[in-house]
Amino acid sequence: MKEFQCGSLVPGCQWHTRHEDEAEIMRRAAEHMRETHGETIIRETMIEAIRSRIEKVRSAA
Ligand SMILES: [Zn+2]
Repeated sequence: MKEFQCGSLVPGCQWHTRHEDEAEIMRRAAEHMRETHGETIIRETMIEAIRSRIEKVRSAA
């Protein structure tokens, strides 16, 4: 299981997402950036910033 916490990129944002598939996390994060943070264009630097902040987590028992 992997997790992305938006607060690691946008201080104060509580949004986060978890999924087995990193590609799915990227897709959700890009959607969140558009809808919540008004990032109409998701730049390569943004993609890299998100990817570098995805962390492996153990699924809750
Ligand atoms: Zn956010």
